Amino acid sequence: MDECIFCKIASGAIQAIKVYEDADFVAFLDIHPAAPGHTLLIPKVHYEKFELTPPEVVGELLRAAHKLAPAVAQGVGAPGFNVSVNNGPAAGQVIFHTHVHIIPRKFDDGLAMWGHRDYASQAEAQQLAQKIRSFVPR
Ligand code: AMP
Ligand code: ZN
Repeated sequence: MDECIFCKIASGAIQAIKVYEDADFVAFLDIHPAAPGHTLLIPKVHYEKFELTPPEVVGELLRAAHKLAPAVAQGVGAPGFNVSVNNGPAAGQVIFHTHVHIIPRKFDDGLAMWGHRDYASQAEAQQLAQKIRSFVPR
């Protein structure tokens, strides 16, 4: 995609501070980090979002994240990390080129987790689970 900023980073057309690269993936520091060391891992090929990314690419993407995430955390002396995908505008996706966030986490780093709530009833939870199961491809 000509105008995609992550494609441009993958091709080297624009600069990023890279921390990892192989034939298929590249990882670089997020320009506006949630925490120091916040890293983005992307496939070099453009896919708009998670479910439009071929499953074998997702597999290799997560394999790369599995290798990289502990290194990111170690690099900044963090005892933990979040690995996440913001998928779709409602979930906060603003760059429409599949990417994985690796965010190093320290105790008391001030980053908020999402809140938790309760189901109104067990029946509500069961109904939702049934609906979700009906959409899982066989
Ligand atoms: P998302 O909300 O999941 O689409 O995240 C996109 C991320 O890309 C944000 O955290 C931005 O700070 C980051 N970002 C945008 N442009 C650049 C860039 N040129 N270099 C590095 N990170 C970027
Ligand atoms: Zn792209």
